[in-house]
Amino acid sequence: MQKMEHLYRQIIMDHYKNPRHKGLKDDSSFVTHRHKNPSCGDDITIQSRVENGIVKEIRHDGTGCSICCSSASVVADLLTNKTVDEARSLIHNYIKMIADQPFEQEDALEDALAYEGVKQFPARIKCATIAWKALEATLDEEEGETVE
Ligand code: ZN
Repeated sequence: MQKMEHLYRQIIMDHYKNPRHKGLKDDSSFVTHRHKNPSCGDDITIQSRVENGIVKEIRHDGTGCSICCSSASVVADLLTNKTVDEARSLIHNYIKMIADQPFEQEDALEDALAYEGVKQFPARIKCATIAWKALEATLDEEEGETVE
């Protein structure tokens, strides 16, 4: 178990230090959402570009703690080239995992499993989910649903 925790910390630090898909695009084919978490100072902007029901590209930028910034990189990496339905399902299962509820798709969550330990720290739950929720908001908007 301790080995897993060590591995998980390495995954998080790797995405924090070497974020994938970082930097926003000035391109109207992207939908952009910015979410903030005042309790921690996290400020994350996520962009997605959906084509024929597939999440073709995800970009992110922002500032915040290591949990928040690394999870933006993880979610961008994991959900690129997934269908919108697959992306939504993974987002829901990830949020359930962080909320310490029964969840599915353990194998498909890959690097995102590294955040399961966050459920022990309720104050950090928002940090671990803010990028995922911002991405979900971009998918909602792509599909023309009501957004806040
Ligand atoms: Zn944070």
